[in-house]
Amino acid sequence: MAVTRKKAAPKKSSTKKSNTVKLKFDTGWSYDPAPESRSAATIKPQYDLFINGQWQKPSGKKYFATTNPATEEKLSEVADANAADVNKAVSAARTAYDKVWSKMPARERAKYIFRISRMVQEKARELAVIETLDGGKPIRESRDFDVPTAANHFFYYAGWADKLEYAFPNRQVAPLGVAGQIIPWNFPLLMAAWKIAPALATGNTVVLKPAETTPLTALKLAEIIQEADLPPGVVNIITGAGATGAAIVSHPDVNKIAFTGSTDVGKLIQRSIAGTNKKATLELGGKAANIIFEDAPLDQAVEGVINGIYFNQGHVCCAGSRLYVQESVAKTVIRKLKDRIETLIVGDPMDKNTDIGAINSKQQLETIHRYLDIGRREGAEMWESSCPLPRKGYFCRPTLFTNVAQSNRIAQEEIFGPVLSILTFRTDDEVIEKANNSPFGLSAGVWTDKGSKIFNLTRRMRAGVVWANTFNKFDPSSPFGGYKESGFGREGGLHGLMPYVDIK
Ligand code: NAP
Ligand code: MG
Repeated sequence: MAVTRKKAAPKKSSTKKSNTVKLKFDTGWSYDPAPESRSAATIKPQYDLFINGQWQKPSGKKYFATTNPATEEKLSEVADANAADVNKAVSAARTAYDKVWSKMPARERAKYIFRISRMVQEKARELAVIETLDGGKPIRESRDFDVPTAANHFFYYAGWADKLEYAFPNRQVAPLGVAGQIIPWNFPLLMAAWKIAPALATGNTVVLKPAETTPLTALKLAEIIQEADLPPGVVNIITGAGATGAAIVSHPDVNKIAFTGSTDVGKLIQRSIAGTNKKATLELGGKAANIIFEDAPLDQAVEGVINGIYFNQGHVCCAGSRLYVQESVAKTVIRKLKDRIETLIVGDPMDKNTDIGAINSKQQLETIHRYLDIGRREGAEMWESSCPLPRKGYFCRPTLFTNVAQSNRIAQEEIFGPVLSILTFRTDDEVIEKANNSPFGLSAGVWTDKGSKIFNLTRRMRAGVVWANTFNKFDPSSPFGGYKESGFGREGGLHGLMPYVDIK
């Protein structure tokens, strides 16, 4: 892919500062490419289903391709599991639960989970390369965030396995049985870790389905699990589309559903399990408010906003996609943001210099473009970086909207791309009311010098996570989850154990 790293000529120079940044580039300053090696990863031409510790052919004999969204090339093909395959996976998980896993002393279970964490670390480079090739996220993110955080989740929950009596003092806890787990395409390996680690630590067995466009790191994890000698059937990883997910949800022998994905599918799942005994956690969409007060350290806040919305191409459920800036500093913040966005490098995700990689799929790119049109038609003012885009692949320039009204669709709906909607406010009460005026409630951010403002806000915000003077920070020991249409149940931390146990 030929991506020239030299900045394109600016469309117009609005401020002194942005001229300085552009001048630097326009006088020839640029990064040399620093590509990670494709050969660090082994990707097989075809993958079967990982059921009962073995690779099994799909009973419908169907496979589908997974591609690299940065080049549109096919990477591999993976099996399409039908209801019969789901049934096989669930019965393998049930047998493993009844005969082995639920009977194994907790300290022995822990050893397996520790082993998986160490192997994820050992294979970190390969996993990062596969994550980037299959999903389009910059290698810097896969390498420095996704893979290490996934390993940390396995380590963290391995530590809990034989200490559940301390997690739930004076209570008796028992595993639920078979957990059906369905994950999206934005953090494929990390979401698999979030799901599998607490389930195993509490003594449950698993049937997991990764998303259609990003199945490869979950399949690599299946290879790790096989190599780690986990007893057959304890973790089963099956690929397929929405129908495979629906078959897991409706299978009568599944005791718990853990789903991360869109609010629409979350609602379908709730309907499907209504009236059954299945427990569920749903981690759904978001439209996080990131709030900058006039007393905030503005440069730090701008960096936080960049991290909040342009990180991972905005494919982040908790992305800070609504920015509320106090009126007195709005002009300055918007100028600083535009200057900073002009320096972001969009392009080859395998290049270590890249800040913004490929949009995960053609369909998602079309969704983003649709919202850009909606925003313009609603009367908001759109501004995008002047950066060049690669000729092939699915890419989107980092974009922001100003003159946005609270009722605009770009301020209410999840776009799931590198698109920021900027609104202004005058008082604390006003911004809290506006920020809470959303069907979602997953996360929020606040930037201010005053601790009292932080406490006032965090107390009154209807959001599962509120970051103060930072954004998008994750740790296995911190619970994560939403209010309202962002779902229910918590993953991570001590709270993340609860959805996998019966507490007596
Ligand atoms: P999605 O369309 O809901 O898909 C999520 C998963 O569900 C995929 O594996 C999908 O399979 C599967 N699926 C589709 N239809 C299904 C059905 N009827 N029954 C059961 N499973 C079904 O979401 P997405 O577009 O992949 O992911 C983006 C969404 O996830 C965003 O809304 C984002 O906010 C949300 N998200 C939330 C969190 C959180 O923690 N709250 C974290 C990450 C992402 P296919 O891939 O084959 O369609
Ligand atoms: Mg792919």
